[in-house]
Amino acid sequence: MATGAFRHPGGHLLHTALALKPRNPKGGCRLGELRKQGKYSILTPAMSPDSTQLVRLNSPGPDGGSRKPLFGLDAAALAAIMAECGEPVWRGRQLAEALYRQWITDIDAVTTLPQSLRRRLLERGWEPARPQIVQIFRSVDGTERYLVECPNRNPQDRVKGPAETVESVWMPEGDGGETGDELDPDSSNGPGWPRSGALDSGKRKLTPAVLHENSPVGPSKTRRGEAWNRATICVSSQVGCAVNCQFCLTARLGLQRNLTAGEIAGQVVAVLERHRVQVGSDRVNLVFMGMGEPFLNYANFMAAVRLLVRQVGLSPRRMTVSTSGIVPGIEQFAQEPPEIRPRLAISLNAPNNQVRGEIMPINRKWPIESLIDAVRQVPLRPRERITFEYVLLGGVTDRPGHAAQLARLVRRSGLPAKVNLIAWNPGPAIPYATPAPEAIEAFRSALAAEGIPVYLRLPRGRDIYAACGQLKRTLEG
Ligand code: SAH
Ligand code: SF4
Repeated sequence: MATGAFRHPGGHLLHTALALKPRNPKGGCRLGELRKQGKYSILTPAMSPDSTQLVRLNSPGPDGGSRKPLFGLDAAALAAIMAECGEPVWRGRQLAEALYRQWITDIDAVTTLPQSLRRRLLERGWEPARPQIVQIFRSVDGTERYLVECPNRNPQDRVKGPAETVESVWMPEGDGGETGDELDPDSSNGPGWPRSGALDSGKRKLTPAVLHENSPVGPSKTRRGEAWNRATICVSSQVGCAVNCQFCLTARLGLQRNLTAGEIAGQVVAVLERHRVQVGSDRVNLVFMGMGEPFLNYANFMAAVRLLVRQVGLSPRRMTVSTSGIVPGIEQFAQEPPEIRPRLAISLNAPNNQVRGEIMPINRKWPIESLIDAVRQVPLRPRERITFEYVLLGGVTDRPGHAAQLARLVRRSGLPAKVNLIAWNPGPAIPYATPAPEAIEAFRSALAAEGIPVYLRLPRGRDIYAACGQLKRTLEG
């Protein structure tokens, strides 16, 4: 089902479908809760009868860029604004606290600042607005995909095309690859299948992680009526992507534009706020694996990471950035201090240059050898490993011999590494096939037999097009 029928390029989403009713009574409990808050209405059941789609009623919409967002500015920039207002620098710290710790979006709620100063900030065009979730697609497996609208987008940041919303994903209980988790993943799952039955989870009926409001509070979260012990947020770094991997739906968009630091960090804060995450005590991982190639938007991506670490208070050890293999970006990344450097994942996706060159044109510019050389420059922390992501494309990257070739490649790299296998998630008019479960298992066990730590990433939120490589669906219409 096309979801984009309800999406207008300017971000106004509302008027078409408010009369539609959910076909799915199961979604009722959660939808009812949201509706009571008066914030969301149901557009339509999403791609599967069990998944749901919500839309925010009070979507602000773009205002033409007349206001300047404070969210996204670092401590020095906030201090400079205060200095311009004739205020001491510690006022900048108060503002940072309001933006990044209290997640305040209304200047009048920043009560640590005198009212006169709040007025002066507004007069000078500053406002605390930040990206907001305007549409939610909820999967039967508890995964949520969001359209996040960014306020006051600077038209100069646009590479081409109209303004779009950005996509982010919330995965309660992670994705089986445990990417970005500070705890060694081996301790929770062990190499191999994360759980029995993971293979057929595309077809299997998954139990939604929804509890009633009055469910007893146990070790897992019950805020918002959900249950989760840990969660992973998948974050976008660009709208679209220029890298053109042949199997990826995002590639079909081309590059629309880079996201700013505030737009990247703002996705995270919007999702943290929605799930009432307590930073510092809740186990939340970030993966920069949404739309776009983070290392082709390097400065903004790293500025966002610095904000998330230094201001929001998240740990870089719980963050993983994935790159298709942008060698200069990896070299720059290797220079970042460990206290702000996320973990690194490389989308290897093929066991040799020939196959990789066919499915990832970027390999012709930076072949596997130069990629591995660059990765070797990244100084790893104790117990840290590089993740090699490997998308299994039926008949293309899962052939007999490919697993042994991949194992050799990983071993020869000399890197402490693990392999995350991802069964290809289909997209319209993309001419690949998802391998049969037996082929995936054969590949996994061949790697494991070679002594390579190997995980299978669960295909989360496939029914709402939230799985890897599927973040284009809404824009497509
Ligand atoms: N651009 C970055 C990060 C975003 S893509 C990168 O390529 O690494 C995140 C992961 O999704 C990558 O490992 C990519 O290979 C994988 N991917 C892309 N399309 C996919 C698809 N259709 N099915 C499964 N995985 C896919
Ligand atoms: Fe871009 Fe990553 Fe998709 Fe390749 S896999 S096109 S780099 S988003």
